Amino acid sequence: MVNRKRLIDSFVKMAEIDSVSGREGRFKDYLVQELKRRGLQVMEDQAGQALGGDAGNLLAVWPGSKGPAILFCAHMDTVQPGIGVKAQVNDDRITSAGDTILGSDDKAGIAALLEAIDCIQEQNLSHPDVEILFTVGEEQGLQGSKQFDFKLLKAQMGFVLDGGGDPGEIIIQSPCQNEIEYIAYGKSAHAGINPEEGVNAIHLASKALAVMPCGRIDEETTCNLGIIEGGTARNIVADVCRVKGESRSLQRSKLDELTNRLVSIFKEEVEKGGGRAEVQVTFLYPEINLDQDAPVVQLAVRAAERAGLKPVLTSTGGGSDASIINGQGIPCVNLGIGMRKVHTTSEYILIDDLVKDAEYIMEIIAQAAQD
Ligand SMILES: [Zn+2]
Repeated sequence: MVNRKRLIDSFVKMAEIDSVSGREGRFKDYLVQELKRRGLQVMEDQAGQALGGDAGNLLAVWPGSKGPAILFCAHMDTVQPGIGVKAQVNDDRITSAGDTILGSDDKAGIAALLEAIDCIQEQNLSHPDVEILFTVGEEQGLQGSKQFDFKLLKAQMGFVLDGGGDPGEIIIQSPCQNEIEYIAYGKSAHAGINPEEGVNAIHLASKALAVMPCGRIDEETTCNLGIIEGGTARNIVADVCRVKGESRSLQRSKLDELTNRLVSIFKEEVEKGGGRAEVQVTFLYPEINLDQDAPVVQLAVRAAERAGLKPVLTSTGGGSDASIINGQGIPCVNLGIGMRKVHTTSEYILIDDLVKDAEYIMEIIAQAAQD
């Protein structure tokens, strides 16, 4: 049985340890101690050095005796304002004091997982090898998980505890994404005296952007133009214009096709007008595109039913550590854990959801032990 009070206390304690991205060190130390206290083997990787932060990713292993190894993953970092969180336990929910985020994203997942381990250990239930990955820098573009060496893992399926939906929501699809930076170069000249000697980069970029697709392309694919800047003064023909955009799709082939189209239209149009174009494409993260029949999805559904939750298979428009894990060849779902209004000072989580998370994790482990 989940110990409600112990779980609330543990969550509050975690929420009140500062761990904004890049400064997860104190929280990481706390977790090392908590994991070792439960008899898990813990190692920290080099992601801290690589990213200029004060903590690396933590990998903990809880050796078991039954069933194939499974992976749980959650992130240690939070967004700002996340310094000096004071968690308030109200009747049915936990909130911040109103001047910071709460950090249920993603400490609710971590607290629920540790509570599930406590319950399983207290009841002496059999379990498989459980690998636990606590990442850094997730909120800054999945930086920690991108640094992690996935060859260290044995698990053939994973569960990320970082979804915003209700417990029981199982994310099986999310897009892959490219960041695209378009730069048009022209030639500066005085706007009033000799404009004919200049080539206006803003004008050329605008002409290109006007004929490029933007917004929804099809039900699986989107692209956007997000930032534009250029020029130096009102009376100078602009010699440079920079535009930041992106493309996303559930299908890698569609992402590639759309991105190539955007790049070639931009280059063509800018060059047609006598300018020079540069486009930089950065692949941010791979897609999640799991079949309903995939063993990891089936197990998540079965466990949700056993935990008294309504399993809902769903998709999301953004990336998570689950994107990276899937990209590394480990089929992995992202589970809703009931965190609400994340990345705002109104963030909260219902205590019942926190309890359900722990019960759900116990059932996932129990189901894996039967495989
Ligand atoms: Zn998160």
